[in-house]
Amino acid sequence: MLRKANHQTIYGAYLLFINLTAETILPNFFNANLPFGYYGYVGNARGKGGVQGRCKRHFKLTKKKHWHVDWLTSNAQKLHAIAFSDKTECEIIQYLLTIKGTSVAIKGFGNSDCKMCSSHLIKLPTNFSMQSIKLSFVDLNLKEEK
Ligand SMILES: [Zn+2]
Repeated sequence: MLRKANHQTIYGAYLLFINLTAETILPNFFNANLPFGYYGYVGNARGKGGVQGRCKRHFKLTKKKHWHVDWLTSNAQKLHAIAFSDKTECEIIQYLLTIKGTSVAIKGFGNSDCKMCSSHLIKLPTNFSMQSIKLSFVDLNLKEEK
């Protein structure tokens, strides 16, 4: 359910769609290679700048890599972000995993302070559509920047 975006800062959870067109190596933490495909990373942003501030950083493709997800966003062909003002990141993950074709991408990714989920990175089916999300969300309409 897409709600119309306004210019207010959103404090809550966000879902970042990440399209990897090449295999991505995650150094150090997981010794994992992520196959190309479509991923969903879910985070919380309740501090200064809110969801928009956090997601703008994700959309800067050239950056000093700090968070695990930075290795994915730096290597992504396409990014898309939507925000949920009335949900937590864990609620979004639990919800996404009920959608057919989704699965945990890497255990322990992005959820170090979470006891509910085994990961905050989900593998999405290639035919996944934003319209299949039956929760209320706002499309942030951000563009990737080099
Ligand atoms: Zn969680």
